[in-house]
Amino acid sequence: KQIDALFRENSELAKSITEQIHKLAPIVSKEIGREKIKIMNFCGSHEWVTTHYGLRALMPETVELIPGPGCPVCVTPSSDIENVIKLAMEGYTVYTFGDVFKLPTVKHYKKDEVGSLAAARALGADVRIVYSFVDAIEDAKKSGKPSVFFGIGFETTTPSYAVLFEKEKVPKNLLFYSSLKLTAPAAEFAVRLHKSKGLVPVSGVIGPGHVSSIIGAISWDFFPREYKIPAVVTGFEPIDVLAGVLKILQDLHSGDITYTNLEYKRVVKYQGNVYAQVEINKVFKLVDAIWRGIGSIPKSGLDLREEYSMYNAREQLGIKEKPWDYDLPPGCRCNEVTLGIAYPTDCPMFMKACTPARPWGPCMVSMEGACAVWARFGSTE
Ligand code: SF4
Repeated sequence: KQIDALFRENSELAKSITEQIHKLAPIVSKEIGREKIKIMNFCGSHEWVTTHYGLRALMPETVELIPGPGCPVCVTPSSDIENVIKLAMEGYTVYTFGDVFKLPTVKHYKKDEVGSLAAARALGADVRIVYSFVDAIEDAKKSGKPSVFFGIGFETTTPSYAVLFEKEKVPKNLLFYSSLKLTAPAAEFAVRLHKSKGLVPVSGVIGPGHVSSIIGAISWDFFPREYKIPAVVTGFEPIDVLAGVLKILQDLHSGDITYTNLEYKRVVKYQGNVYAQVEINKVFKLVDAIWRGIGSIPKSGLDLREEYSMYNAREQLGIKEKPWDYDLPPGCRCNEVTLGIAYPTDCPMFMKACTPARPWGPCMVSMEGACAVWARFGSTE
């Protein structure tokens, strides 16, 4: 209640911050010589807050809030979904989260292809939706059947997997198919892309609150250090985001470009959750990872270390990684949406051939996907 009062229901504070943003934005725009001050977020929940509360409508013309890679479900490559579908069709029990269940492969629109885990289950495969890895462990122990858990998520989810492996809670009949991703390498990739493609460069970044609670606010210091871009870690109330935008403008104005754990110290420490980091490093190793519609980003994923290879579905079942092939359904612009190059409404299929009830592309499936957020709450452009 106190937090609500401070960060959500305080209209006077919101008004005051918005006025300061309006005052400062045109000055900063001139100072940095850019018509648009692009500020990118890297978290589906920040996109949700921005859209749900209509924060774009509060921005001056010079400030553009763009969504970046912030949805792990959206970026899970089609090849991973296809591999797990194949295992389900071969008789393995597959455990998955609810939004991954409906995630379409690149082939889902083709006749005679099993295009999602939901379609596999409709054909009789044993695909079970779980809320957590713990649920899958309990169920696999009871069933004793050869099983596979489809491991999706960013740094926020990974510690919950790591601890269970470390504490030897995972039964031998449950393999782990890792599609785990790391936020910071993808954030850096997106920012570099804007620069190299001749687009308006990103002028500031809003670091993800949940992810930063694990990896620490310090993980974003490379933006000011290497790219001269201010980075602000904020929370998930509207005033958190407004205050983040103002801090970025203040940094750009003063020339003192920093990374800041603004007022989200209530959750995020500069060093993050060191215990969780240790657990992750004990169980997982850094690997190059494929991001859907984008391709391979170096050292942007995690897979089980050799000590845990007995649980590694790829190794145990001889699944070979194929070179990445473009993996979005025809016409889908999820890759551009994910990289902040296009808004969901730039896609001609948005809310026509692609809706939350009948998603055509991956960004419309999970509630963390920008297309799904815009579909539900309006674009507020
Ligand atoms: Fe892809 Fe649908 Fe978004 Fe278009 S609206 S980019 S098809 S998910």
